Amino acid sequence: MEPIPPFLSNEQLLEVLSATKTPTAIHVSETAIIQMANDAMLLVWGKDRSVIGKSLENALPELKGQPFIDLFKKVWNEGSTISGTDAPAHLEIEGIVQTFYFDFEYRAILSNEGKTLCILHTATDITERFLRLEEQKRANESEDALNREQLLNEELASTNEELKSTNDELHETQQSLMDLNYELEERVSTRIQEVEELNKQLSTKNREFALANKKQIAYNNELAEVNEKLKSSQDELQLAISTASLATFDLNPATNHFVGNDLLKAWFGLKPEQEIELNTATDVIDEADRKRVILAISHAMDYTSGGDYDTVYTILNPENLIPRIVRAKGKALFNEQRQPVRLSGVLQDITEQKQDDQRKNDFIGMVSHELKTPLTSIYAYIYIMIAHAQKNKDNFTTGLLEKAKIQMVKMTTMINGFLDVSRLESGKIHIDKQPFNMADLIKETEDEIIITVTTHQIIFEPVEPTFVCADKDKIGHVLNNFISNAVKYSPHASAIQVACITKNNRAIVSVQDKGIGITAKDKDRLFDRFYRVENTQTKSIAGFGIGLYLSAEIIQRHEGKIWVESELDKGSTFYFSLPMV
Ligand code: ADP
Repeated sequence: MEPIPPFLSNEQLLEVLSATKTPTAIHVSETAIIQMANDAMLLVWGKDRSVIGKSLENALPELKGQPFIDLFKKVWNEGSTISGTDAPAHLEIEGIVQTFYFDFEYRAILSNEGKTLCILHTATDITERFLRLEEQKRANESEDALNREQLLNEELASTNEELKSTNDELHETQQSLMDLNYELEERVSTRIQEVEELNKQLSTKNREFALANKKQIAYNNELAEVNEKLKSSQDELQLAISTASLATFDLNPATNHFVGNDLLKAWFGLKPEQEIELNTATDVIDEADRKRVILAISHAMDYTSGGDYDTVYTILNPENLIPRIVRAKGKALFNEQRQPVRLSGVLQDITEQKQDDQRKNDFIGMVSHELKTPLTSIYAYIYIMIAHAQKNKDNFTTGLLEKAKIQMVKMTTMINGFLDVSRLESGKIHIDKQPFNMADLIKETEDEIIITVTTHQIIFEPVEPTFVCADKDKIGHVLNNFISNAVKYSPHASAIQVACITKNNRAIVSVQDKGIGITAKDKDRLFDRFYRVENTQTKSIAGFGIGLYLSAEIIQRHEGKIWVESELDKGSTFYFSLPMV
């Protein structure tokens, strides 16, 4: 049996506990009456042993208002343990309230029934460690702050740098913006100037337009007036056409369709509502004329012809086959490409006129023919009488008979002319075309003229051999007619020049005089039948106006051309041309 060691009494135990270095106290009751406090605790509290037996509040009155007294109450009442670290407590040490920091524990020691017996109060003064840590913390914090500040400073510096460069950039940007602005202003001002200039031009244009508009209005009014006049002219023309019993036609070459008035349709045996085709129209033309008319139409449609259409033909009314002689006169119009766009004109019924002419012609033909026999006899008698008078050396009678002979020749020429006209009109003139040298014909004419004409200087220019195919006699008539006219219509002793040249494979014969000349008005009609210029100079000159008419008809039957160039009081040149062989 092991001996029971001697146990310490409660007081002894308390004494031992008092010796621990850890500040320890034991409290009882709700008010935490101090039953025991070791020296370490008394040192913490700054009190002596007189606090034993006192409530905590009485022992340490400075704890009033601090949480500890309530905590003790709680631990006592609940039998719990409350601990804390780094808990601040304000204690009065040597009359000065100071702050200390503790790790503490209030532990309720419970009876077997669970009732709180006492509260074991331990505390460790960690003020120094706490303050050091605090100091350290503060130091760390300030270092951190310093670091942060430095970092911040560095950031600031770099931000500053960035800002500076940004600033520089900004400055640069501002500069370029200013430059741009300046440029923009310049441009804007140039643009404004341009716009102003444009505005000016526009307003000038506007004024011009307004003026043009005004002119256009005036022009339109004029046009309306002209239209009005045109309408009344058209009405007048219609009236004139119907009064003159003219048939009108308008051919569209693109469609070969005719438009004509009712008279035209009646002549061609058509109803007013019927359309006219070129073929329908030409079918009605007498067969003897048809080919010639078609040729005349296509000739007029050729730009080089000048577009003139003038022809006489017979139409046979398809219903009653009554012939009607008409004169068709018209003009073709051409576009810029020289293509015909229309041929329009009028048709005049000349049947009666033609019949009158025919009667006149027949009469002239008959009279001329009848006159020829006595004339030939008189001519023969004069010849015999001249021979007789010459034999008797009767100069006086011879002279008179010579003059009578000249007059007889003139008369014969005249009658021959009438006979020719009559033959021409009745279509009985015969053209006998044979190749011959124009130089020969001119030489023969010269030989004849030199004997018969003594009043003028007639100059025959040398002629190269020029061959044509024609009726030599009839062409000789034409040349003689030109020469005798030149003699008749120019002063005595003046020069007359006869020439023949070639051009474009044509022989051109000309007779030039220095005579009275012809006006432009008369020039167009010289080649008409019986046309004579009526003035004081021509009054005393004998003639019937058939010489040039016959010449023109002869030349036309040779596919030739006849024309005159003349100046009043200066002289004239008559020409004819024939195709060469
Ligand atoms: P005629 O001379 O017989 O009257 P023509 O037919 O030969 O007939 O001539 C017609 C008209 O032309 C003449 O009346 C005349 O007025 C005019 N004529 C002809 N030749 C000339 C000419 N060389 N100079 C001036 N006028 C002329």
